[in-house]
Amino acid sequence: MSTTLPKRHDLAVVGGGIFGLSIAYEALRYGMSVVVLEADHVGAGASGGLLGALMPHMPARWNPKKEFQFQALSSLEAHTRMLEDETGLGTGYKRCGRILPLTTQDRLDHHIERAEEALDRWHPQSTGFTYEVEHVGSRSDWLCADAAPFGIVYETLAARISPRAYLGVLASYVRDHGLLLEDTAFEGYDQTSGALLTTTKGQQLAADRLVLASGPACFEQIAAFTGEMIGRGEKGQALLLEGAGLEENPAIYCDGLYVVPHDDGTIAVGSTSDRDFATSAVDPARTDELIRRATAFCPALKGRKLLTVWAGIRPRCNKRDALVGRLPNSSRVFAATGGFKISFGIAHLIAKCLVVDLMGQEAEISLPPSYLPEHHFSDIGQDRSP
Ligand SMILES: Cc1cc2nc3c(=O)[nH]c(=O)nc-3n(C[C@H](O)[C@H](O)[C@H](O)COP(=O)(O)OP(=O)(O)OC[C@H]3O[C@@H](n4cnc5c(N)ncnc54)[C@H](O)[C@@H]3O)c2cc1C
Repeated sequence: MSTTLPKRHDLAVVGGGIFGLSIAYEALRYGMSVVVLEADHVGAGASGGLLGALMPHMPARWNPKKEFQFQALSSLEAHTRMLEDETGLGTGYKRCGRILPLTTQDRLDHHIERAEEALDRWHPQSTGFTYEVEHVGSRSDWLCADAAPFGIVYETLAARISPRAYLGVLASYVRDHGLLLEDTAFEGYDQTSGALLTTTKGQQLAADRLVLASGPACFEQIAAFTGEMIGRGEKGQALLLEGAGLEENPAIYCDGLYVVPHDDGTIAVGSTSDRDFATSAVDPARTDELIRRATAFCPALKGRKLLTVWAGIRPRCNKRDALVGRLPNSSRVFAATGGFKISFGIAHLIAKCLVVDLMGQEAEISLPPSYLPEHHFSDIGQDRSP
């Protein structure tokens, strides 16, 4: 038997993606001692992607989920600037705005109503975030006029970030202030002793609390604690084109696709969605489809060199919204997953709420009810004993 005493941490986080690293960052800032276990490398999951679209929910039928995302997107710029100051590294964040085409009279009427509602919900006078309908032909050097026969919406809350750079900044902070163990897969947790079981032989680790933030793999890990499978993975594919000279353009959302200019002279295009998939590998037919669809509404992309293609698996909860909080019948095990298509815009605020919860304190901003365990699990007898 080994005589080495296990290193005990306040918190162990499983997963070096945007959720796991954001939670680790926030916990470290709170003064907790933190270990992150990453089975492969930082960004090995969906967070290591290319798109980085930070797109608001529509300002219609407002609800707590939309308000939470609004608060998250509104505060993300300051959050990334703070991270950049702390680490000396860039995140690629920019509030680039977004264009949406209006393709029917009904849509035009509908978006005129949304523009009205945005006046109430987005508080343009204090925030500067606007949502406006523009005339036919507006910005047609970027989104072609044929794709927008009833005009466009131009809104200025939307932003973009470089997913890989953002992760790199968070990982740098976590490495400097905590313990980030790559090539170390989580295998189990003894809730009585706090001992962690990992794939690294001879490693003795323990933690007072555990947060599962392992993307789609999280659902099986959660099921091991709760007996319930509350989500699954959904495949997506995106690509990068050479985009020098196009950096200042807003993002476009058209035909179910985003075109997102980044400040390094690349344009991200994505993404596909496949619920059923045999492999997580890139599908060349999907690459051709993405280029064909994007160049149809954004002719400035025609002939641009293809730089990279990437596919990943998004975590999606059966009840659609993210899960954040303590697992049923558990005192020490928490989970944060299921950000699906909007994780990058909300991760920092989710992390703040979760860490405050871990500390047993009241958050200034509450998680929306649809993010809470009560919404996701059928058996929610929240027994808090270990
Ligand atoms: C094509 C595509 C485009 C997208 N575009 C956008 C976008 O524009 N904007 C946006 O906000 N979101 C976007 N998303 C969604 C977003 O990427 C995901 O929702 C997000 O990355 C999920 O982050 P996560 O931290 O929950 O999981 P992940 O990024 O999957 O991270 C989980 C990590 O846990 C690790 N892990 C798994 N099992 C274990 C274990 N047993 N032990 C230790 N570690 C483990 C994995 O290796 C992985 O690194 C996109 C997704 C795809 C696929």
